[in-house]
Amino acid sequence: MIYFITGGSRGIGAGVVLDAVQRGHDVAFTYVQSEEGAAKIEEEAQRLNPSVRCKAYRLDVRKAKEVEQVGDQVLADFDTVDVVINNAGISRDQTVVGMSDEEWDDVIAVNLTGTFYVCRFFLMGMVGNRFGRIINVSSLSAYGASGQCNYAAAKAGLHGLTQTIAKEYGRKGITANVVAPGFFETDMTRDALPEHMRQFWQKWSPVPKGRIGDIKELSATIHFLASKEAAFVNGQIINVTGGLDWSP
Ligand code: NAP
Repeated sequence: MIYFITGGSRGIGAGVVLDAVQRGHDVAFTYVQSEEGAAKIEEEAQRLNPSVRCKAYRLDVRKAKEVEQVGDQVLADFDTVDVVINNAGISRDQTVVGMSDEEWDDVIAVNLTGTFYVCRFFLMGMVGNRFGRIINVSSLSAYGASGQCNYAAAKAGLHGLTQTIAKEYGRKGITANVVAPGFFETDMTRDALPEHMRQFWQKWSPVPKGRIGDIKELSATIHFLASKEAAFVNGQIINVTGGLDWSP
């Protein structure tokens, strides 16, 4: 299948890109600043599976025009896209009272509006193909998280967006689902979590599994949702948290 993955230059997105090529899929992925990181992922993908195509594109998902231009280029290069994974995301943490307009707007623009632009663009082709898989990467924070009102609102918004796509396009062979990760070690969590909190998590993890997640474990869930076998899983929010979402 042919995948389009936003934010594939590092962290979870990079893991999903490399996993996809190892599973034999062609991949177009995006970055916004990490040109060098994206080039390294392209090289690593080529090394892991020389028989598939893996290409990076610079894209700021906040800009609708850019989404259309890059989307057109991807379709020109790959002919079609079967699977869209909206993974690009940022956090700008602050209490509700302390949050600036800019912090609010930035996070909504990347995490929610950007995902909408990408879904809107690729859905047209999916409807024509009578096949498509959309997987939007949310977060456990969507259920409310202190210091993250912008991030929580954006991620909760993704749930509504995804379930609406699931309803509008389910009859056209398209599924749309959300994965809501718990805690995975990436630049995002490294930047947001103070060292003493990291030590607390490692020693006294509140996760019933007793540890931080491995990106491969999240990627495996995403690849299941992307598969043809997952045709009847639609409009679901799949928490991949080691049990953190229900543990007291
Ligand atoms: P990360 O390491 O910070 O990587 C973020 C990715 O998003 C990078 O590839 C970055 O590109 C891209 N990006 C940032 N701003 C963008 C923009 N305006 N347009 C397009 N791409 C942009 O983050 P991560 O931890 O892997 O998180 C990936 C996703 O999982 C996010 O949606 C995040 O909210 C979600 N998540 C993560 C965790 C976790 O534990 N890590 C938990 C719950 C949810 P550049 O490299 O070019 O900057």
